[in-house]
Amino acid sequence: MTKFLFLAIFFLARSLAMMMAAGSPGFAEDHGAPTRVVVLGTGNPSADPDRWGPAVAVVVNDRAYLIDCGPGVVRRAAAAERNGIAALKAKELKIVFITHLHSDHTLGYPDLIFSPWVLGRTEALEAYGPHGLKNMTSHVEKAWVEDVRVRRRGLEQANATGYKVNVHEIEPGVVYRDDNVTVTAFPVKHGIWKEAYGYTFQTHDRKIVLSGDTSPTDEVVKACDGCDLLLHEVFNPHGEELKDAHWKEYFAMFHTSPAELGEIARRAHPKLLVLYHQSLEKLPESDLVEQMGKEYSGNWVSARDLGVY
Ligand SMILES: [Zn+2]
Ligand SMILES: [Zn+2]
Repeated sequence: MTKFLFLAIFFLARSLAMMMAAGSPGFAEDHGAPTRVVVLGTGNPSADPDRWGPAVAVVVNDRAYLIDCGPGVVRRAAAAERNGIAALKAKELKIVFITHLHSDHTLGYPDLIFSPWVLGRTEALEAYGPHGLKNMTSHVEKAWVEDVRVRRRGLEQANATGYKVNVHEIEPGVVYRDDNVTVTAFPVKHGIWKEAYGYTFQTHDRKIVLSGDTSPTDEVVKACDGCDLLLHEVFNPHGEELKDAHWKEYFAMFHTSPAELGEIARRAHPKLLVLYHQSLEKLPESDLVEQMGKEYSGNWVSARDLGVY
């Protein structure tokens, strides 16, 4: 009986060792946890308390890559951290890709520069975006110069590096690469903005495309091309405002309707389409959702603040 037990343990131990040995190359090739996309804010300029400023985080392993920084971005990241995403801790916010310089997408920029520093970030913020970002950054730095002096020289003894920004004004193409991700910028059509970008994030397990703000463009179709996740902006054309000719023209030039998005998605064939930065035009979300359902029969979802996709 003892001998049987000994043999059983021996064979069990041996097969475990073999499994681990066989598995180890697999572990070496494994680049970590599944990539998550956290929509920190789905809002737009309307002061809707349920929809904070536009900001998205692509979270790969222990790092967060932000796209846009609308109002409240650092607090929204803290809310996501409370929901269990440690990479979104304030002092870990170190890199942002800005789609364009519209105020609703950038009002959280000073927040992203200064709050994580006050909370202990020692690295400079790396900020990627269109031309004009350097100018915006230097104005923000000047606006808070006295704050920086007091925090550094006074009793707070804030560090001498974490409030700095390295600005990278980009061109279309690969703009960033590290062990987790390759980020490619592509131009989109946002009315009279000279430069507006969408971004593609290629990680170890997912290809994620964000439209930024745009009217329908082939660039999104090309960038996605069967991608795992396409986050695309959309507006509700039933809005009262759109009865006004100049608003109708504005939305046609700057944004994408459900019918247009249906067409884009059919050509881009994402595995999942996520409606984000929805312009609800004072109508319930269900009104937009109903229209989208008629226009597109693939997999899609309308993003909520702090939703993870
Ligand atoms: Zn915009
Ligand atoms: Zn916008």
